Parts: sequence; C-alpha cells; structure tokens
Amino acid sequence: MARREAAVPRAPYHTTPIFAAGAEGATIEDVDGNRYLDFAGGLGCLNIGHGEPRVIAAVRDQLEKHLHLCFAVTPYESYIALAEKLNGLAPGKFPKKTILLNTGAEAVENAVKIARAYTQRPAVICFEDAFHGRTMMAMSLTSKTHPYKSGFEPFASEVYRIPYAYPYRSEVGATAETFAQHLENAFKRAVAPESVAAVIAEPVLGEGGFVIPPAGYFKLVHEICRKYGILFIADEVQSGFARTGKWFASEHFGIEPDLITMAKSLGGGMPIAAVTGRAEVMDAPAGGSLGGTYCGHPASCVAALAAIETIEKDGLLARSTALGKHFEKRANAWKKKWALVGDIRGLGGMCAIELVRNAGTREPADRETKEISHYCYENGVITITAGTFNNVIRILVPLVVTDEQFDEGLKVIEAAIALVAERKQVALSHA
Ligand code: PMP
Repeated sequence: MARREAAVPRAPYHTTPIFAAGAEGATIEDVDGNRYLDFAGGLGCLNIGHGEPRVIAAVRDQLEKHLHLCFAVTPYESYIALAEKLNGLAPGKFPKKTILLNTGAEAVENAVKIARAYTQRPAVICFEDAFHGRTMMAMSLTSKTHPYKSGFEPFASEVYRIPYAYPYRSEVGATAETFAQHLENAFKRAVAPESVAAVIAEPVLGEGGFVIPPAGYFKLVHEICRKYGILFIADEVQSGFARTGKWFASEHFGIEPDLITMAKSLGGGMPIAAVTGRAEVMDAPAGGSLGGTYCGHPASCVAALAAIETIEKDGLLARSTALGKHFEKRANAWKKKWALVGDIRGLGGMCAIELVRNAGTREPADRETKEISHYCYENGVITITAGTFNNVIRILVPLVVTDEQFDEGLKVIEAAIALVAERKQVALSHA
C-alpha cells in the first residue's frame, strides 16, 4: 500500500485495501493468503467467473498464433466471428452490424458518433443517475457530479438530461406513462425533437444503483423516439451478458434498441467492448472514421467468443435468474426486520439493497452503507456500493458462485446490516 501511494495517484480509487494474488470462480486470494468471496466480479466483468478454463485456453491458443496486428491494417477472422455472434444475440430480427472497441466508455463515444452520423442531428438525451464512462462524451452523459464530473468542466455540448424512472425515489403513484412524459416534456422545455440524434439509457441503472424502471417504460420511450426519428441507444455495459438472466436487460422490457453498447462481461475478463446496431445505422459513418489501434484485440476476441460459449453451454442465464430469486427471498426478510433496509430490488442476478436512515423520508444512509461494505470485506466478502447518494449495495457476484458460497456471502451481508441497523436502533432508543 505504501508503494501504491508513492507511485500511483489517488484518482484511481479502490474500495478495499486487498491486494489480489489469484482468483478462481467466485473467489479471490490476496497476497497474504486470505480467501474472499467476490461479490463484485471485477466490477461486473466476471459473470462467467474468474479463470474460466475455456477463456484461458482460447487466449493461450491465440498467443501462439499472433497478438496485435491492428484490424485497420490486416484483419483477422475472430473479430468477424465475434461481430456475427453479437449480431445474432442482440434483440431484433433486422440486419445488424457490430464494431469492436476496448472499453465501455469508448463504446458509448462511438454509439453517439454513429447516431449523429446517421441522423445528421447534434443532440443527445440522457438520464439523471446515469453512468456512461469517464471519457469526454461519456462523462458528459454521466449524471453523478462527485467524483465523476467535478473539476473536469467544460463538458460536451448538446447533452440534455431528464429524470430516470426510479420508482423508489419518485412521487407515489408514478407510472411508466408519467415517467415517459419527461421525454415529451424535454422537447418543449429543453431541446427540439428534430435536433435530437439519440436517447441513451441503461435499461437497468448500473452505477446509479441498480434501478429498474416499470415494465412498460422503455417501450413507451422507444415509441416516442420513433415518432421523432430519434435513435434509442441501450447502454448494456453493466446489464448485459446474463447479468439480469437474459443476454441483454432490454429483452425484459420487450425493446429492440437501434444501438447497443456492450463491454465488461463480454470479454470474460479480457478488455473488449462493442456497439451492435441496425446495419443501415452502423454503416452511416465513412470508412476510417471509427476504430482505434487496439480495438478488437485478437486475444480479447477469442476470449469473448469463449465467454459467450460458456454462458450458452453452462446455462448461466437460468443460473442468474435463480440467484436473483434466492437473493430476493432472503433480502426481503431483512427489509421486514430493519428500517435501514429501504428497498430490495433486482432483475435476475443484478440485485441491490438501498439503505435509508428513515423509512419515511428515505434519507440515504451513505455512511452506514460504507460501514456495511467495510464489515463485509473484513469478514471475507468483497462488495461494492452504488447510487447517486452512495447508499446502495449491489451484487455482481460471478454467476458460477456455488449455492453454499452465495449463502455464505449473504450471511455476512446480513450480519453487517444487523450490526449497523441494531446499533442505530439502540442509539435511537437512548436518544
Ligand atoms: N456504461 C455503463 C452502464 C457502465 O456501467 C460503465 C462502467 N461502469 C461504463 C459505461 C464505462 O465502461 P468502462 O469503465 O469500461 O469505460
């Protein structure tokens, strides 16, 4: 840690002081030989688990053939095979094409460029509580000010923001229709619809706290987009590849986005990202206008193909759904027991606990959330927090976690909540 502090700036923050030495399945071993249950999964990149043998074999095999060539100079088949695979997996029967990138932020940057090139319009509408990455356009589309935006002004122009469909933090009785009305209102209050290239949304908020809109919401949003010739971009960087029990969270809402951004668990632990979309939209930018030196690296392409095969063959979509159900059952009991647990929500294995100081006012319990996360890693479970108000514990456990490991992890989270909630209740009764 002393060497880290001397050599690395403070900005690349880490939530635990655990230095990893090895990882397998849903566990991480640190440099002191301690073993942890990993409920963070490399921040949502390890849906198929650490050290998946098919991914390792594919990468090893690729190492023997060639590493970097640059797709812009001499193309190779694995890039094309992965594009074909993603075109088939993405929702919608229409012809699709895929470009490969390196990171989620880069996928977002490119999706916006593609949408602007196709529509010949400048503006993008995004959401409160959204997270789309740390590069210029992605940061401009991101909602949370601290730590993501403060001090990095000015942001990209022609970005307009509307409220997300966040049932727990909205007026009682809000519906899919009333939430979707925010988009129509923006066309009166903020930007003319004929100036808007795209609406970009996470079908389930990631960093924003695993918020799940009501069932009919995105269908309405997409219909409004179509009415005005606006493209709908689904950012599935965190919600994709079995996290929610389907390939893409969009499928839960019955929508077929014009463009989908992907990264994280696409690579099974290797860095790779993609934009998949309607063929005619994807073909709008001119030859040479998109890409990058390392985009679609050969080792990452074969890793992604192996990761997709693992999800298919090992039934990880169903596993994700089962884990989600199990979580809900256990966590709902916590909600009944402790007022600190304000909301339990999840879509498949994308589950979260929102913590509040007061069930009535729903004041975010940010300090308590941090304490719970701290207790968890000190007791062998690595968790991460989320939410604009830093009061959500999110579960991104590898879907290969065993039932015993999952229960053990939930037991530690429960003990942490009990400790903080009951201490709070004692404090209140003394007051
Ligand atoms: N979009 C979403 C929905 C994300 O969750 C993230 C990362 N948390 C990003 C984009 C950015 O991805 P990356 O960190 O790979 O740039």
